Amino acid sequence: MSATYHELLLDTRRRLEQAGLSGAQIEARFIVCHACGKSRDELVRDAQLHVTAEKMAAVDELVTRRLSDEPLAYILGEWEFMGRTIEVTRDTLIPRSDTEILCEQAIDALGEGGRLLDLCCGSGCVGLCAIAEVKNATAVLCDLVKPTLAVARRNARKLGLSARALFVGEDATLPLPEALGRFDVIVSNPPYIPHGDLAALDRSVRGYEPMAALDGGDDGLDFYRAFARNLKRCLSDGGRAMFEVGAGQARAVADIFARAGWTVDEIVRDLAGIERVVKCGLD
Ligand code: GLN
Repeated sequence: MSATYHELLLDTRRRLEQAGLSGAQIEARFIVCHACGKSRDELVRDAQLHVTAEKMAAVDELVTRRLSDEPLAYILGEWEFMGRTIEVTRDTLIPRSDTEILCEQAIDALGEGGRLLDLCCGSGCVGLCAIAEVKNATAVLCDLVKPTLAVARRNARKLGLSARALFVGEDATLPLPEALGRFDVIVSNPPYIPHGDLAALDRSVRGYEPMAALDGGDDGLDFYRAFARNLKRCLSDGGRAMFEVGAGQARAVADIFARAGWTVDEIVRDLAGIERVVKCGLD
């Protein structure tokens, strides 16, 4: 069957709509553009041209993946965060818009030439998008999973930040090597889903996203306990540490830091009004 790009786009949209996808129109355009190697403008320009059989098959394959609940971000291999395009693979969590507030807080706290540490960095979206906004700021990005760190490194290169970013494969729950020095801003979006809740996550998350990036132990708070214990000597004088937390966890996390001798400055809500970031220091 021969079809034009216009017909292919409509057919793709219909298939996604029939599966109950709410963003069918936008997703169809993303999928057709990606599979056919065209920008949105090129797709409009070429609407009446006929699509080759190879490209029809490429679109069909991506639609089939999407209809199996694979997140669009993994199909495209990239996602938007803080207005920048971030490469993602199944070794990284997909950047959530909920997390942009953490990045914004980091940007606010980071002065010119400041040093930032991003623990459990995943794709690197938080740390990289933060230093991208602050003149001469540098970052150490840390993730235990080697293929994940490789994605973060590629993102630094794509954002033109390689010279300002260092990548280390440390376990964020253990004390970091002293040679890394001290940081003006420490950020982390650690795994925080209670272990017992993992099975109830949406199929698109459970079936595709890396469990190691989500599993926060029995109560979801294992990483915060380790951070409260280990990170004091990593903070510069007057420095600020800020952590994303899951819905309903902010008070418990603030308590963990307060008991370990930190000063909790603030709990910041995300755009949905959920307490999302716990911000603290040592003064
Ligand atoms: N916000 C993510 C989710 O709800 C979890 C991220 C995390 O554990 N850090 O799937």
